[in-house]
Amino acid sequence: MRFCILGSGSSGNSALLQTEGARVLVDAGFSARKLAGLLEAAGTSLGQIDAVFLTHEHGDHAAAVEGLRKFPHIRVFANAATARAVQAGLSHRPDWQIFETGTRFLFRDLEIQSFTVPHDAQEPVGFRFSSGREGDLFAPRRSLAYLTDLGHAPAHLHEHIRDCEVIVVEANHCPELLKADPKRPWSTKQRISGRHGHLSNEGVRALLGAVSSPRWRRIYLTHLSRDCNTPAAVEQALAEIRASLAACEFAIVGAGEGTPFYDLA
Ligand SMILES: [Zn+2]
Ligand SMILES: [Zn+2]
Repeated sequence: MRFCILGSGSSGNSALLQTEGARVLVDAGFSARKLAGLLEAAGTSLGQIDAVFLTHEHGDHAAAVEGLRKFPHIRVFANAATARAVQAGLSHRPDWQIFETGTRFLFRDLEIQSFTVPHDAQEPVGFRFSSGREGDLFAPRRSLAYLTDLGHAPAHLHEHIRDCEVIVVEANHCPELLKADPKRPWSTKQRISGRHGHLSNEGVRALLGAVSSPRWRRIYLTHLSRDCNTPAAVEQALAEIRASLAACEFAIVGAGEGTPFYDLA
């Protein structure tokens, strides 16, 4: 399994996951044109993408679906509430593959588990993607958890991130920087920091600290707010947990940035 983040932050989120049998996107929150450019930089193209998995309908996660009209072979996986919300803004009908939140299903050599996350969208989810077999020398089982856009981290998330090699998790804002931000009105700040808003650096620290699994190899901190967070603030909030997880790498993805490929094998 190979993985890279194409882009992260409120201007758009998308990640690329590749196995022997599938090449999929997790979220597609850019214009299809911009997404095509990001994929080209990653050595591939929309023509080679098999499927998109949507966490929720917000534009910074689903904007490219409109532009997929020219790529009817791409299957779009979402739960019914998310699909309905996205479809309402589309001028075409993509190849929807509807799953029920909480179920486990297969796509080619990928096993996908969805689970609810608390966020102000219709039915937002996180995903765990797994591939390979336990004990297989050439294709050992590897898992990646993807959870972004969540106001807080309920305990049911623990089981979904414990046995993964890779975790992608939102570190949206630093509470002090959010409070001091002169641009956002009070109501927006309440929304962001609320139970169904976005996860703070402190929130990620608490989640990772509560599970602290020896299986973790790499953790991506994503969806950083451009104005209300900095990589340095994330670094500072996570310093202690980072020191206690010596075998795990931390990749803080700045607002608007992507990452090179990481090989999970
Ligand atoms: Zn959202
Ligand atoms: Zn978002």
